[in-house]
Amino acid sequence: MLGFTLLIVLFNLNCFAQEQYKENKKITAIEEYKGGIFYPVQHYDQVDTKKGPKNIILFIGDGMGLAHIYASMTANGGSLFLQNFVHCGFSKTYSSSDYITDSGAGGTALACGVKTYNGAIGVGPDKNPVKNIREMAEKKGLKTGLVSTSAINHATPASFMAHQASRSNYDEIAAEFLKSNIDVFIGGGVRFFENRKDGRNLSKELRDKGYQVLYKMEDIKKVNSGKLAGLTAEEHNAPMPERGEMLVPATETAISLLSQGKKGFFLMVEGSEIDFLTHNNQAPGVIRETLDMDRAVGAALAFAAKNKETLIIVTADHETGGMTINEGNNKTGDITAKFTSPEHTGVCVPVFAFGPGADQFGGFMENTEIAKKMMKLLKVN
Ligand code: MG
Ligand code: ZN
Repeated sequence: MLGFTLLIVLFNLNCFAQEQYKENKKITAIEEYKGGIFYPVQHYDQVDTKKGPKNIILFIGDGMGLAHIYASMTANGGSLFLQNFVHCGFSKTYSSSDYITDSGAGGTALACGVKTYNGAIGVGPDKNPVKNIREMAEKKGLKTGLVSTSAINHATPASFMAHQASRSNYDEIAAEFLKSNIDVFIGGGVRFFENRKDGRNLSKELRDKGYQVLYKMEDIKKVNSGKLAGLTAEEHNAPMPERGEMLVPATETAISLLSQGKKGFFLMVEGSEIDFLTHNNQAPGVIRETLDMDRAVGAALAFAAKNKETLIIVTADHETGGMTINEGNNKTGDITAKFTSPEHTGVCVPVFAFGPGADQFGGFMENTEIAKKMMKLLKVN
């Protein structure tokens, strides 16, 4: 009987999955960007790629494959800030345990330079801690920061902070922020700092350590010196457009604080919810999230083009959705996208680089090589 019930459940799940394949949603940028419609994309001159960078800004579009990017480019009338990146390669995303990675192993590969098992945060296959690039930079006296639209202790940013056998150790990951000397972090996750199993109030502890702990973007973006913890949602921030301007001002605020250091900085910025919306196979949401991250990349480019000592890398931890494009129009921004899966896929993801050291990110590379190259270029390993 149990077996029969299970069979029925599986059959229904399968039907549901089949239905998702059939969904064929269409978005119109004109409807979604009322007033502005398409945002303007500036051109930035390339800077010398031969000398090493003083600063690195790493953007991770969680789940962002080439179709996510090109659909968004079409939705914005055929252009993105990403087009300023002329040095491009491909990252192989498989983990030590699975051909198809999760964001824990994917984040750990990009942060620590090791392939590990799915679900791991900053530990190797043996569950021993592995140093990440942010910790290395901090130790060398560089300023460091993390920005994400998800909870700041979610798998991707957690990989640049914590060492946990499981990505679901959320309270433990949040507590590791107190052990670090990070200069800026902005993301969701208030409840993991203030409503914890162990009764600790990490926000109070952060204030005692000298951090400005703020909850609203309007307050966060006014901060112009000192250490900053921005916690803008109980857990994850709302998806676009409900979230409003969060990722762009968070990126700008982090850059303005981190660039005050003499020795340079490392900043990771995550467009977390590209993945969330792709799991739901919602093309309009996927595009809105990808465009939001592209505008944050634009903010980083504006700084890097002037600063000339900053390497920007834009990549993904894996592709989600097996997304493809069946129809598009560069004039109207209309896109018809299809998905082959509600899960992550195994296809390689693009790597874009701009600035000093950018020429080292061409061709096929392991995801772990991205971390190793960054460590070497920033001279922190
Ligand atoms: Mg993520
Ligand atoms: Zn995912």
